[in-house]
Amino acid sequence: MQYISTRNTTKTFSFKDVFLNGLASDGGLYVPKQIPSYSTQDLEKLKNLSYRDLAVKIILDFCADEFSESEIKGLIKKSYKNFRVQDVVKINKIGNINLLELFHGPTLAFKDIAMQVIGNMYENILEKNKLKVNVVVATSGDTGAAAIAAIKNRKNMKVFVLHPENKISEVQRKFMTTVDVSNVFNIGITGNFDDCQKLVKLMFANKDYKNSINMSGVNSINWARIVFQIVYYFFSHFKIAKLDEKINFSVPTGNFGDIYAGYVAKKMGLPINKLVIATNKNDILKRVVNTGYYRPLKVEHTVSPSMDIQVASNFERLIFDINSCSSKKTLKLMNDLEERGEFKIGKEELKKIKDNFFSESLSEEETKSIISEVYKNYGILVDPHTAVGIGVTKKISLEENTIVLATAHPSKFSEVVMEATGIKSELPENLKNTLIRKEKYDKLPTDLEKVKKYILKRI
Ligand SMILES: *Cc1c(COP(=O)(O)O)cnc(C)c1O
Repeated sequence: MQYISTRNTTKTFSFKDVFLNGLASDGGLYVPKQIPSYSTQDLEKLKNLSYRDLAVKIILDFCADEFSESEIKGLIKKSYKNFRVQDVVKINKIGNINLLELFHGPTLAFKDIAMQVIGNMYENILEKNKLKVNVVVATSGDTGAAAIAAIKNRKNMKVFVLHPENKISEVQRKFMTTVDVSNVFNIGITGNFDDCQKLVKLMFANKDYKNSINMSGVNSINWARIVFQIVYYFFSHFKIAKLDEKINFSVPTGNFGDIYAGYVAKKMGLPINKLVIATNKNDILKRVVNTGYYRPLKVEHTVSPSMDIQVASNFERLIFDINSCSSKKTLKLMNDLEERGEFKIGKEELKKIKDNFFSESLSEEETKSIISEVYKNYGILVDPHTAVGIGVTKKISLEENTIVLATAHPSKFSEVVMEATGIKSELPENLKNTLIRKEKYDKLPTDLEKVKKYILKRI
């Protein structure tokens, strides 16, 4: 499979380039030149596979130039061996909603599912090619922890994580800052997530700096993460629906990575009716779907911090797709955003978005009352991100079967859960000592030069 950038379709890249670079050097995002497409017979063959076997088949379709089937098998086996449920993910029912629990990995958020494979894939690629990398990543709370869990103690790698200071939950922070190993560096930035993301993007865009530190990235713009997330859309559809039955997915959304994976699954032939973009007060994506205007506003701090994002980076991949894969049109919109702080999606293109997506948002109060309601009615504790996913399905009338992605374990946001239900959500047994270990992290201002220097000194 060949890859191209959303901002230049003439140059092609291998999976290895895409994996190691994260972001294309023209500032665009990597996408496959052609997305594989599965027929009903293909789906039939995949339908009864275990999660791991299904993952091998789907992932291989995106990186067979780099890995053999047995290599991918080995990577998958290693990556998911410590998950707390047999099949990596689990489906729970609350009334007529199917909750797809994606939080049974080491740091209690869906991001582990992709990040664990990424860690093992890095090790394989770096060793094969005798390379070293320094991963620099911005986090709204969960990516950083997942990246640290995946990269800690690996050879040939260091990881630098920028988180917005005081804007993530205590458990989220401790999952990162209590990991005391020599290749992990945590930096609290006095700003919000968009500031952190911008710093990382600027470092990537500076070729000299990027090359001087062998910089690599695992943010949700990394194509490999998208691929690993496609798997659970297929797996959960197969579990709850008939092969040709169109269902909806409601996805708590921040950077548009997870839901974009669902869009790719749909393009590959998985029968999906609507993908529901579920957001908190940071509702840029809802405004886009309703008005066609993509206009980032100030980031608002909410009880679902992993979605406190206004610049939804992966949205560029959708823009590229609905503009008939025109890098010229994509580039124009991205330039508009840079120069004028917004862009407008054309009428025809907006219709394509509306054919595939719905969007709704939940206020803070609504989010807490969903947590309380779900507990009262079903005895299940849900985290605030998952609650947003559930809540929006109640605001729009959906006739088809619906799966809500449960993106984090309630204990990761136990303060909010406690406030809404009066119940303390306990961490899984094997993670309890995280809370009492000593924390270690450095603080830096939102200052590109200072951050660059900090990293240079430590590689
Ligand atoms: C990261 C995250 C999200 C948002 O995912 P995106 O891929 O950025 O849209 C939602 N919920 C939780 C718990 C997360 O950690």
